[in-house]
Amino acid sequence: MLRRRRIGFTVYESDQSLTSRPQGYRIHVDEHGDQALARVLPADLYRLFRATAGVPRTRTPVFDDQLTRLTVLEPADDGVHLAVNRLTLRQILLSGVRDAVVFGRRLTRHTTAADGRVTAHFADGTRVTGDVLVAADGVNSAVRRQYLPHARVVDTGLRQFYGKVPLDERTRHLFLPEMHAVFTPIVGPNKNYVGVAPVEYPEPVTRAVTRLAPGVRLTDTTDYMTCSFGSRPEFLPCTDEELHAMSGERLRAMTLRMIEGWHPRVRRIIEHWRSGTVFPLTLRTSVPIDPWPTTNVTLLGDAIHVMSPAAGVGANTALRDAAGLATALGRIAHGEPLIPALAAYEAEMIAYGFAAVRTSAANGHRMLGQDPLPA
Ligand SMILES: Cc1cc2nc3c(=O)[nH]c(=O)nc-3n(C[C@H](O)[C@H](O)[C@H](O)COP(=O)(O)OP(=O)(O)OC[C@H]3O[C@@H](n4cnc5c(N)ncnc54)[C@H](O)[C@@H]3O)c2cc1C
Repeated sequence: MLRRRRIGFTVYESDQSLTSRPQGYRIHVDEHGDQALARVLPADLYRLFRATAGVPRTRTPVFDDQLTRLTVLEPADDGVHLAVNRLTLRQILLSGVRDAVVFGRRLTRHTTAADGRVTAHFADGTRVTGDVLVAADGVNSAVRRQYLPHARVVDTGLRQFYGKVPLDERTRHLFLPEMHAVFTPIVGPNKNYVGVAPVEYPEPVTRAVTRLAPGVRLTDTTDYMTCSFGSRPEFLPCTDEELHAMSGERLRAMTLRMIEGWHPRVRRIIEHWRSGTVFPLTLRTSVPIDPWPTTNVTLLGDAIHVMSPAAGVGANTALRDAAGLATALGRIAHGEPLIPALAAYEAEMIAYGFAAVRTSAANGHRMLGQDPLPA
């Protein structure tokens, strides 16, 4: 959208490349995420996004550790529910704007001049000045720490090991048909859980590219199930430090010990975890804060409203922010004063963003044993 409206921008990304560290696997895209992508992407890229997005079942079963169905959650709406591969989505987002992204540039701090213009300072000693600084730097946001030091990010009390099982002739039969839903939790003692969720491409990725957007480069990925195990740290037989030093193989072995006595099908699923894909996560959440005075520094996504994944909406909220902010920047480019336009974006973002933080925390508390949000 910014490109179409001829608004100059540069993204400074601390990673060396799109694939230099594991970023996760499946992502659930809902109505908000889908609408945001429809607004910001050129038509061919949006069609490619839809063509590479799986459509999971919307009725979600909840099982206990013996695979007894405890309940079936009906979707709250008839809206869009898509299961996309993160890397595929990121490659689509990067298409056509690769020249505006500088990899390997970590922001360390920012300064604001008397006229409001902002200078970003980077770890390599370089600096860049612009009209607006957008903090899209995720949960550990360096911008948020400096700009809103009272905005807290806290431990949810949940640890998750995140991996995948390729869906092929050896593994497809392990998953019940109803497990091809948005996200299927299998909840055992102490609310320890195994969660499975499919990414199933409607057609081969390369064929979708040739058909809809030749010239775009997407990694040719095939179907898989993301498969995670979650627990509270007090139930794990190791410290956080040890956990984060463990290989995928050791995480798989520890998970199998933690789910001893669970239904053999669940154990077989974990046995099929591709060990090289498994990594541990400490799940964190922001604590909602009151609105702040708007300046030329603004924020979006996890940088301001990181939330537990229990509602599957963190990225959808970030995409919604991005579309709203791009619209505000478009109005500014057409002559609207900068601060009121950014203030309108922030007022909306703060309301729905922190509402999503609260909903995610409530879901996580009820289903997975997440700590309640601090007062
Ligand atoms: C297990 C799990 C499952 C999830 N599933 C879903 C789901 O199904 N649906 C959903 O909507 N959400 C989901 N989420 C949430 C989602 O992953 C996040 O909300 C989303 O990635 C946030 O996007 P973001 O761009 O704000 O931050 P990020 O994706 O974290 O991106 C921030 C970027 O900034 C870069 N960066 C960081 N610091 C600096 C710096 N100092 N200088 C320059 N660059 C920097 C980082 O390298 C990174 O590339 C899930 C989260 C988890 C943990």
